[in-house]
Amino acid sequence: NCMKFNLPLPPLSRLVQKAELTRLSHTFLHVPQLHWIVVEDAPQPTPLVTDFLAASGLTYAHLHKLTPKDRKLQEGDPSWLKPRGAEQRNEGLHWLREMGAAAEGKEAAALEEAVVYFADDDNTYSLQLFEEIRYTYRVSVWPVGLVGGMKFERPVVEDGKVVRFHTGWHPNRPFPIDMAGFAVSLRLILTNPQARFDGDAQMGFLESSFLQHLVTMDDLEPKADLCSKVLVWHTRTEKPKMKREDALQKQGLGSDPDVEV
Ligand code: UDP
Ligand code: MN
Repeated sequence: NCMKFNLPLPPLSRLVQKAELTRLSHTFLHVPQLHWIVVEDAPQPTPLVTDFLAASGLTYAHLHKLTPKDRKLQEGDPSWLKPRGAEQRNEGLHWLREMGAAAEGKEAAALEEAVVYFADDDNTYSLQLFEEIRYTYRVSVWPVGLVGGMKFERPVVEDGKVVRFHTGWHPNRPFPIDMAGFAVSLRLILTNPQARFDGDAQMGFLESSFLQHLVTMDDLEPKADLCSKVLVWHTRTEKPKMKREDALQKQGLGSDPDVEV
């Protein structure tokens, strides 16, 4: 029965992908010395992302890593059920370590100065954040707005040191910090090859699973005026409704698939 081959393939990417990439790239274009490592959740690089990056005007590496089906959120699952983007961030770490191992001389020296930030495609970033990130020796931290069911979460700083965390949920996690709330020196990543994101981590423990290998709370470097300013927001993009599109498609009147959205 070849009927099943006639079913349309499920979309591999989110419909908002190009919109997110457009918005994010326009932020990054304002940031000097930024190298964007894009890890596509796909079995191979797609033409959409390949063409997008080539035209972006940014310096980038285009990697890909498909989330295995059993690790992927399914339609209707609540968003907290599984960690999102763990495999992709680990792929990025793997690429950085290969780069680090191959680098020599001047290039190796430049890598020593680099700082790694895991940027979600749907967050909102102040340009000031990237200035703060530049001065990271080990792990730097700062507040994140609109996250965890709070106006903001943040490390609490006393006498210049992080002493605890302002969060509404499980404050005793090793590092109750959202992905958007920290950056790590590349040197630390290269000297701790065991540090990676645990895709099986309990809800809310993905960041901790990585940071635990790298630092203790005492080592954290508070940024953004001793964590008194919000420079990044955990905004989330609404999934577009395709009710009319689906209805028209059934009548053969769907939007032209040759137009890239
Ligand atoms: N992501 C991914 N594959 C997925 C789901 C998410 O690569 O199946 C990426 C997504 O593009 C984003 C990051 O993982 O950069 C976090 O996902 P999302 O923004 O949906 O999670 P939230 O910020 O709501 O926790
Ligand atoms: Mn997000």
